Amino acid sequence: MLPATPEEIWKAVLCDMELSLSKAHFTTWFKNTSIVSRDQNSVTVSVPNGFVKEWLENKFNKQIIYSIRKLSNEIREVRYIIGQPKPEPIRQDFSKMIVDRDLQEQTSGEQNQEIDKTTSLNKKYSFNSFIVGSANELAFACAQSVSQCIVGNLPKPYNPLFIYGGVGLGKTHLVQSIGNAVLEKAPERKVLYASGEKMVSAIVEGIRNRTIEDLKNLYSGLDLLIIDDIQFIAGKEKMQEIVFTIFNEIHNKNRQVVMTSDRPPTAIPAIEERLLSRLVGGMLADINAPDFETRVAILKAKSAEKGVVFSDEVLSYIGTHIQKNIRELEGALNRVIALSQIYNRVPDLKETKNILNAYLAVPYRKTSPQIILKTVADFYNISPADLTKRSRKKEVVKPRQVAMYLLREEIKLSFPDIGQKLGGRDHSTVIHACEKIKREEQADEPLKNELTMIRQRVYDSFE
Ligand code: ADP
Ligand code: MG
Repeated sequence: MLPATPEEIWKAVLCDMELSLSKAHFTTWFKNTSIVSRDQNSVTVSVPNGFVKEWLENKFNKQIIYSIRKLSNEIREVRYIIGQPKPEPIRQDFSKMIVDRDLQEQTSGEQNQEIDKTTSLNKKYSFNSFIVGSANELAFACAQSVSQCIVGNLPKPYNPLFIYGGVGLGKTHLVQSIGNAVLEKAPERKVLYASGEKMVSAIVEGIRNRTIEDLKNLYSGLDLLIIDDIQFIAGKEKMQEIVFTIFNEIHNKNRQVVMTSDRPPTAIPAIEERLLSRLVGGMLADINAPDFETRVAILKAKSAEKGVVFSDEVLSYIGTHIQKNIRELEGALNRVIALSQIYNRVPDLKETKNILNAYLAVPYRKTSPQIILKTVADFYNISPADLTKRSRKKEVVKPRQVAMYLLREEIKLSFPDIGQKLGGRDHSTVIHACEKIKREEQADEPLKNELTMIRQRVYDSFE
């Protein structure tokens, strides 16, 4: 076989990285990178700026080497230099791919059609369609008050407003509603909604193109800046510094910031002291899992929206059996509605039970990280606590990697979340473990059997 060319090698790295990163991160860290030279045991990679260099060196180096060595085993080292990469076909292909995908994302999917280009708000979210119960009433009241203060140009008592809670509990719905309510009453206000991931990549882009001042001006010229899932700035020091200055400016101008996160500010890892005190200096409101009454009210509202009227016993059956979050509740309801459309009548309790039993039997809905961790630990005869310890002993390293792999495969947790659950490990460690076990599962018969048995136990624990 011919030795791989630098272009081929880098293309393979990009493919691997693209698979393991979100699109925003991939674009941020790998756009305009290429191999500029290669000798016996090392390659030199050109990167667009110092920020990217630092990240590739510190966060992705292991993974990059790992990918390279799949093609070119003698490479031991990767050096990163800041430079203008020379135009090469492979890079052009690649940037074209990124652009194409952007276009695709913008033009496909009915959901996207409702997203406003300037504000990134989705019109479907409103206060009116948000059902209030004891688990979310504080957040709801704050959200309404914030929108009224912006509309009326009043002082802002809740600034920033920080809403936190688990996945699928209505954070995005609520903060988008703030933006929509403001624009409905005062269309001249400047509002921008961005995910934390988007903000991070916009800032990186700004640093790279030396347009960071423009970006800061853009943000601080807004009447309302909404950052959804701010936890993405965790651990990124330089980023936090910039976010801090942006928030400060907005605050000084009496403009409003609203943020959401899956956890309270104090639980965001490696958050800078100054930024933390800025975040907790406003209003913190949590959203919890909805109680039974709220679940049924939500089901009633959502089915009415779709023009279907279910009996109370059907709704309370669904509300009793699906408790975790509202996204799942909607999923189950949609399933019942879809089948009722197929059969052309509203299902009764017995039919609903059948539909939902099938729905609930989908394996990944039935397991949880705790069950996976406990089952893996039991299987390998160690304690669940061993999985999160810092130990590098062989007896715990493998079970830990297996646990990571199963959390990824069975529950689709994100790499950073998996790292978090297993004792605060870096996401690159998790990626490495998942890839390793995935590869070995193909080749290594005993491991394959072990994984089968563990999976069986994980799902059997529900029978
Ligand atoms: P999060 O951002 O917290 O993960 P979302 O805001 O995306 O959750 O909510 C998930 C789904 O549940 C959305 O379709 C949303 O409209 C719906 N939802 C959440 N909370 C409520 C609520 N209180 N009333 C009505 N629908 C809700
Ligand atoms: Mg959300």
